[in-house]
Amino acid sequence: MTNASATESHPGRPMKIYGKVGCSRAYAIRDFLHRNDVPFEWIELKTDDQCRAIGVEPTEDLRTPVCVFPDGTRMECPTVRQIIDKLGWFHDPLLAEYDLAIYGGGPAGLSAAVYAASEGLKTVLIERWAIGGQAGSSPKIENYLGFPTGISGADLAERAREQAKKFGAEILLAREGVRGEFTTAKRVGYLADGTKIIARAALCATGIEYRKLGLENEDKFYGQGVYYGAGASEAELCEGEHVFMIGGGNSAGQASMHFAKYAKKVTVVVRGKALKDTLSRYLVDRIMATKNMEVLTETEVTALHGGRVLESITLKNKRTGAEQTCPTKWLFVCIGGDPRTEWAAEVGIVRDDLGYLVTGPDLVRDGKAPKGWPLNRSPYFLETNVPGMFEAGDVRHGSVKRCASAVGEGAMSVMFVHRYLAEG
Ligand SMILES: Cc1cc2nc3c(=O)[nH]c(=O)nc-3n(C[C@H](O)[C@H](O)[C@H](O)COP(=O)(O)OP(=O)(O)OC[C@H]3O[C@@H](n4cnc5c(N)ncnc54)[C@H](O)[C@@H]3O)c2cc1C
Repeated sequence: MTNASATESHPGRPMKIYGKVGCSRAYAIRDFLHRNDVPFEWIELKTDDQCRAIGVEPTEDLRTPVCVFPDGTRMECPTVRQIIDKLGWFHDPLLAEYDLAIYGGGPAGLSAAVYAASEGLKTVLIERWAIGGQAGSSPKIENYLGFPTGISGADLAERAREQAKKFGAEILLAREGVRGEFTTAKRVGYLADGTKIIARAALCATGIEYRKLGLENEDKFYGQGVYYGAGASEAELCEGEHVFMIGGGNSAGQASMHFAKYAKKVTVVVRGKALKDTLSRYLVDRIMATKNMEVLTETEVTALHGGRVLESITLKNKRTGAEQTCPTKWLFVCIGGDPRTEWAAEVGIVRDDLGYLVTGPDLVRDGKAPKGWPLNRSPYFLETNVPGMFEAGDVRHGSVKRCASAVGEGAMSVMFVHRYLAEG
């Protein structure tokens, strides 16, 4: 990041996190650091003596986790925002106006930032959590061009961040775009903390948000037994445990293979009749050949049980109706997601029935530009029905939902941004 971080100033010494298992605050910190490729050491507080040694009474749950930075700074139960501050990564926008404001720091947004900044556009990227998006939670992306042995999503994202910074893109982390306001010449974005971003053109690359199971207690157990996405930061913590992975897509398949390296057993739970219907052949073969993995087809999770943390789940076979309760502290939900684009509806941006943003040729009906379109030309391929407002990646109607295509669209969007800006 721009400023030397506490970790960077003490190379080789990772930050230490002391905490209890099943603590959602500790999970948020681990997830954030892992996605941003910041080295850390997790030390589980298992005994009362361990708690006291780090300066907290065993009953004082709200004082953990304790984070100790390489420079010796100690923080009790910090928020992720406080950690970002300490790392020197939190700052206000440097410019009063940008050529391009990009919302979302997944593969599409990062790619747009690299191309825009390298081509001389004053570029800011706003990311609500950590760079990398969905890809950032993946332990290994094996089909991204140029990495024949695969690359972790966090590593890929960190490389892209470095590249974007090198070309001069500004990156604002832990900031969420919540509202837009468009005039003829300006795209104004309002962030959740009240910050206003003014730009001549804007790109929405906000991807999708993980879908939930819709079960009672699901929110309560989030970070305390229930996790979404591939959970790459958690795999090493699952040593000797029984892990359940819900989902039959490639992302769930890859993630379960990763967990199988650490866990005693990994159970993949899918609603369909066969894993091969939803998973690439090479992953099906690998899962079938892995001794500590099992696949339960035509099965759903129907209930979550526990006190403060998840203790067990109920599984129901859809065909026979048979139910079983399985003890576990680790349930990973990797069943796709939905776009969060309510802000777009408020400003009249066309969305499809599922909330994906419609662009370019998909806006044109019977050769006619969309209603209210003010220009003599049709919307560019990645442009919405608001001139100068572009979309790329998974959030776009008809997108392919792959890393490479998100990266491609991010790059391509910049060409259209140039054309739009040249129109004056
Ligand atoms: C576990 C997993 C493994 C995968 N593995 C592969 C793989 O091996 N190969 C492959 O090709 N594809 C893979 N995919 C799919 C691939 O990761 C996605 O297609 C890709 O990440 C889409 O990129 P994106 O930039 O469009 O969106 P996302 O990756 O979803 O990124 C969107 C970003 O926008 C941010 N954001 C959202 N709303 C706001 C807001 N209001 N303000 C600011 N920021 C916001 C989010 O925090 C997020 O960082 C995988 C997906 C998952 C979940």
